[in-house]
Formats: sequence, structure tokens, C-alpha cells
Amino acid sequence: MVIAEAIANAAASETVVQSEPMTIREYYQRVQTWTKYALAGAIMTVTFYIVFRYPKLPMWAYWVVGRGEAAVAMAILLVFMRRTYRGPSCEVNVMQLRVQKLGRRTGDRRMFWQFWDACPNCELSFDEPCTSAKR
Ligand SMILES: [Zn+2]
Repeated sequence: MVIAEAIANAAASETVVQSEPMTIREYYQRVQTWTKYALAGAIMTVTFYIVFRYPKLPMWAYWVVGRGEAAVAMAILLVFMRRTYRGPSCEVNVMQLRVQKLGRRTGDRRMFWQFWDACPNCELSFDEPCTSAKR
């Protein structure tokens, strides 16, 4: 989980640099953006490495590699989201509440901070500065 740790640390250290205190909502958004780029970068790196290192693999082998990469990325994402997308203060699993609200197979891509303005469990507002979150 080295990647996840690095992202979390980078996101956390940026709060110190900013003069305006970051809101909890901004924190979630920032972590989401970071995660997206880090995962995309990691997958591309591995893909290029394998294609250049083993250029003569049959098509099915690349397919297996692609599936493997997707599975690893999903696993990292799940562990990472469980750690990050907790309620800001009460540590409820907000992604779980989102699934309960929207259903597991929803086409709705909105993240929870786009349809809730506060933690659905303890009602701490996402517009509060990040420092009021217990971390
Ligand atoms: Zn809460």
C-alpha cells in the first residue's frame, strides 16, 4: 500500500502550504484527483514496460496482463477508499452509505460530496475546514 500512503501524505502535506484552510469537501476532491492520476500513471507505466520488454507476446497474454492490472488497481482503490472516504469526524464508511442510497449497480457517477453537504451520519458539514475533521 505504498502508493496509497504516498498519495495520502501528499494530500495531507498540501494542507499546510495553503493559506486558506481547505474544506473537507476539497480534501475529498483532491484525494480523488490524486488517486486517479496516480493509478492511471502506474497502469500506463506497467503497460509500457511489459509491451517493450516482451514485444512478442501473443494477444491473449496482453489481455491477461490488462485484466491483472485492472484487478490490482481495483484492489488498491478499495483499500485506499476505505481508509480515506470515512466520515470526517465519526469515521463512518461514507462510500458504504452512498451505495445504500444509490444502489450498487447505479449509473450515477457522482461522489458523495456532490449530493450530500454534510456527513449523513454525524452531520458535520463538508464545508467545514479540514482541520475540524478528526484524523
Ligand atoms: Zn460523520
